[in-house]
Amino acid sequence: MFTLERKGLDTIQLNLGYKCNQACSHCHVEAGPSRTEIMTRETMISVLNFIDLTSSKNVDITGGAPELNPHFIFLIRQLTDRGLSISNRCNLTILYELKDKNLPRFFAENQIKIIASLPCFSEKNVDSQRGKGVFSKSIFGLQELNKAGYGLKKQLILDLVYNPNGAFLPPDSDDLVDEYRSALSEYGVQFNELLTLTNMPIKRFKDYLIRTGELDNYISLLRRNFNKSNLSKVMCKKMISIDWQGFVYDCDFNQMLDLPAFGRKKIHISEVSSSSLENSQINVDEHCFGCLAGKGSSCGGALQN
Ligand code: SF4
Ligand code: SF4
Repeated sequence: MFTLERKGLDTIQLNLGYKCNQACSHCHVEAGPSRTEIMTRETMISVLNFIDLTSSKNVDITGGAPELNPHFIFLIRQLTDRGLSISNRCNLTILYELKDKNLPRFFAENQIKIIASLPCFSEKNVDSQRGKGVFSKSIFGLQELNKAGYGLKKQLILDLVYNPNGAFLPPDSDDLVDEYRSALSEYGVQFNELLTLTNMPIKRFKDYLIRTGELDNYISLLRRNFNKSNLSKVMCKKMISIDWQGFVYDCDFNQMLDLPAFGRKKIHISEVSSSSLENSQINVDEHCFGCLAGKGSSCGGALQN
């Protein structure tokens, strides 16, 4: 096994809760409509107090569906007032479910970068991984984002996320992006980049691998494709992940596995100083091969060109 050390803090990832309007088969959060874990405003204030003490300029918001958090707008306004660069991980269908709120316009007004899940350009594949009707609602979401200027205006970035619909590594984004552009242009949809992510062998995807008898093969595939040059680029080297209660982890995957930052004991963000993060050991385990295989994988896509 390898070791990893944190080398600074340029991104704070906030998980606003595990509630989601979808329940996708590969979800590493095991999110869904019945989950009740939601970050409170009080916890958000603890996080904001921490951010004020750091030099981190980027906040990456995730969930569940972060837009379902009742304090989502409050948080975005607070982050915008601080001049931070904000990314929101949007499942697209939430823009259909909450269409009365016109979230694309709110995102655009605050110049939030949108990182949107669309694991395929085929309706059949998307619906099989994410649920019946998800593809058409996702297209609605993308069209609304385009109407608000996303994917069209320079400062309004709309990136799409691909992840494999099975136990294999993602292809190169360059090999896939033209097919995405061509297929989505039929709906008049435009976007910036296509990010390719590796499925992590944890939670729902791990259950799927166990059910299909593919777990050992998938782990061997990840190990066989271990690429040492990804070690210096993995996202945890410059990021922390904060859960809905304010506890700190090295990444969202470790959060879901209950592997806290700084070793065994969970530490709340109100007790963390940014200097204590410098050079701290990262809690690694077998699932980390998911980030380190092939061209690598992170919340920002592949690690190598
Ligand atoms: S993968 Fe995303 S959209 Fe799907 S259930 Fe998980 S959090 Fe929700
Ligand atoms: S899963 Fe990836 S991001 Fe998380 S600790 Fe392991 S290598 Fe780092």
